[in-house]
Amino acid sequence: MDSSPAQILKKIFGYDDFKPFQKQVIDAVLAGRDCLAVLPTGGGKSLCYQIPAILLPGITVVVSPLIALMRDQVTALVEAGVDAVFINSTLTVDDRREIEARVRQGKVKLVYAAPESLATDRLLSLLDGSEPSLIVVDEAHCVSEWGHDFRPEYRGLGYLRMRFPKAVWLAVTATATERVRDDIRKNLSLQSPEIFLGGFDRPNLRISVEAKQDARGRIVDFVEARAGQSGIIYCGSRKRTDDFAQTLRARGIAAAAYHAGLPAAQRNANQSAFVRDDILVMVATIAFGMGIDKPDVRFVIHADLPKSVENYYQEIGRAGRDGLPSDCLLLYSAGDMVMASRLFEDLPDEQRRDARKRLEAMRDYAESDQCRRRIILRHFGEPSASETCGACDNCLSGPRNMADLSVPALKFMSCVKRCGESFGAVHIVDVLQGEATEKVLRFAHQELSTFGIGGELTRAAWLTLARRLESTGHLLRDGAHNTLCLSDAAYVMFRERGAYMVPETLLAGPAPRPSRKAKSKSSSPRGSFGIAGSSEDEPAAELFHKLRELRKKIADESQVPPYVVFPDRTLKEMAVVKPESLGDLAKIYGVGDTKLQKYGELFLTLLRRNA
Ligand code: ADP
Ligand code: ZN
Repeated sequence: MDSSPAQILKKIFGYDDFKPFQKQVIDAVLAGRDCLAVLPTGGGKSLCYQIPAILLPGITVVVSPLIALMRDQVTALVEAGVDAVFINSTLTVDDRREIEARVRQGKVKLVYAAPESLATDRLLSLLDGSEPSLIVVDEAHCVSEWGHDFRPEYRGLGYLRMRFPKAVWLAVTATATERVRDDIRKNLSLQSPEIFLGGFDRPNLRISVEAKQDARGRIVDFVEARAGQSGIIYCGSRKRTDDFAQTLRARGIAAAAYHAGLPAAQRNANQSAFVRDDILVMVATIAFGMGIDKPDVRFVIHADLPKSVENYYQEIGRAGRDGLPSDCLLLYSAGDMVMASRLFEDLPDEQRRDARKRLEAMRDYAESDQCRRRIILRHFGEPSASETCGACDNCLSGPRNMADLSVPALKFMSCVKRCGESFGAVHIVDVLQGEATEKVLRFAHQELSTFGIGGELTRAAWLTLARRLESTGHLLRDGAHNTLCLSDAAYVMFRERGAYMVPETLLAGPAPRPSRKAKSKSSSPRGSFGIAGSSEDEPAAELFHKLRELRKKIADESQVPPYVVFPDRTLKEMAVVKPESLGDLAKIYGVGDTKLQKYGELFLTLLRRNA
């Protein structure tokens, strides 16, 4: 071995420093340890195995569930001068033969393969001849039924362990829960693996939630304010997907729809167009996104409520993989709960209850006035260092108008008490509002002193208050029956009569929040680079634009996605630093040897012309 991981990082990939955990994972793999690396999206998992693959003798097999992803990764590696191939059902007979011959001659460092191909004798005997030194399982959570994307084919992978006993195993995923990690370890028979758990925070994502009013108008504004940037808009139904895509196109924005109702050929065409920057905005159902490696997605909008915090986190995670600031906007209306619940109405009892719980956690997130990042991190069991992140709407909005609900809070809690602490919020509200429902009459709750004393709030506002009391710990809910009872904090409140304040926006329902909206517009720095968060330097911005045009031309000529030529960040640095020689250019982020040779002169010519 005549190179170190750090040298490969610079020489081949053009990066100066490792991201957190990359070096540790690489060292462990090179030392022959099985590893499980759980790192967030954009955390740089690919290099964790690509660098060892380059350094180790023999071949590295990468199991990957997604054909599109395989192709993109292999394209990017070949661009960087690394011998990589993929083997899956999309290859022509001739291509496959040619690839197999190269593997047999020992010319190939990395073979990407789908799990189902690895179950075939043809591929296995090909690999027999080359003794893989490293077996990588990408998206390893697919092996677990507890993950969000279980794939039965992944279960058979343990078999490779017997076939290639000398290989080191590395499983990588962005999914964190302990249960999934356990499943991965067991099902892939990892041998006392070293486990790396990266943080889940994505500080470059700016997160906000707005009350949904005129969704169409808001989306158009949002997208138009980000002209030239890539984004994804998630919708809850195919119809809305088509609808919004149509609206955006009518405004001259390069948008397309993506959902399971489109013919596969159309979906694939739309997806490639998005990756190639021919389509800038993809309006999609959740069918879209797995396997999209595009690093420069600058925004993700949710036009409807995602079904869980896990889904939401995964979907917004597709923004800003390159680490540059990116915006995530959720449009929320309390009515969305009804639409989202329809999706699991027909499930068996237990599954329906679980689905509802997950959806409720998402709603609580949307309605919260706490730091959003903190809520998400807590959800994944990661304590956050600070109370506020300074990059979500709640942290940025400052103090907001609060309504004093001290009296209604006391009324609600005493009604819970009088009903014997064995009913849910809906029944308590019935009693407070004086509804003589069958259940109220059956338990003679019309006789209670709290019957009919709750005229001051709407039904929806009472229910919001109930959730609020639960989230502030005054009420405890029995998960199995949804019944409410009082906590110690409730008795403290009875005794001390402290104030109970609730943000007005929560009670108003889906009302516009003009102050918030104005704020989020001015606080999203949109440099003239067309990249959020960049400086306002006009000439540099113009140069950046020209560099992007050159990149797009090169990309189209060699039929690769533009980011494979160079990522945005590289072009941005070029525009500011203006390197004048190949030597200077090599120092720019993301410029490795192969790309320097291939494109260096083209970019230098452009830079010199604009010096
Ligand atoms: P993941 O698979 O963990 O989501 P990727 O492997 O796709 O992440 O990497 C995300 C982006 O970060 C890619 O554009 C990759 O080239 C870049 N990247 C990876 N490692 C580094 C590094 N050490 N320095 C700078 N950029 C890096
Ligand atoms: Zn925050």
